[in-house]
Amino acid sequence: MAIRSILEAPDPRLRTISTAVEAVDDELRALIADMFETMYEAPGIGLAAPQLGELKRVIVLDIDREDVKTGPLFMANPEIVEASDEDATYEEGCLSVPEHYSDVVRPAKVTVRYLDRDGETKELACEGLLATCVQHEIDHLDGILFIDHISSLKRNMILRKLLKARKEKERDEAEGKPAAKLKMTAKEEAAEA
Ligand SMILES: [Zn+2]
Repeated sequence: MAIRSILEAPDPRLRTISTAVEAVDDELRALIADMFETMYEAPGIGLAAPQLGELKRVIVLDIDREDVKTGPLFMANPEIVEASDEDATYEEGCLSVPEHYSDVVRPAKVTVRYLDRDGETKELACEGLLATCVQHEIDHLDGILFIDHISSLKRNMILRKLLKARKEKERDEAEGKPAAKLKMTAKEEAAEA
């Protein structure tokens, strides 16, 4: 098991459509272990393989809230097979879009079909934060980020800020300055996936 680095937008790998997994084998289970370890360390409540540069249709989730407790959930080749007409709005964040948050509207309930850790086909009815998180992670497998669901004005502002932060970091590293400590904010408690 290893903690891996998480790709950040704008990175072309985050914009790529990932390929379906043929079998849940030991190699894939090793990737799953890395994904869980990386997600818990971040910390986040969900992670998709392409966020680690692995362009495979694999996601992990673990939500531990008062209303939703899932435990560790792994899904290969997840697909939404049912979605409610009713929508829900959640403030979303993403480990690949660090320190930015925005309200996103999605179907309030979805049913997802996937292969579990043993390669068995399963279906899970999701609502609340779990429904949002599953849809957010499946989006990653299609090269979609939560900022694609918000206004282009806000999306471009976030992308510009991410690029600026990256340039500053690269400049500091070139000058041999230690990495600036991330500012602690109340937002760190918000869900990132
Ligand atoms: Zn994300």
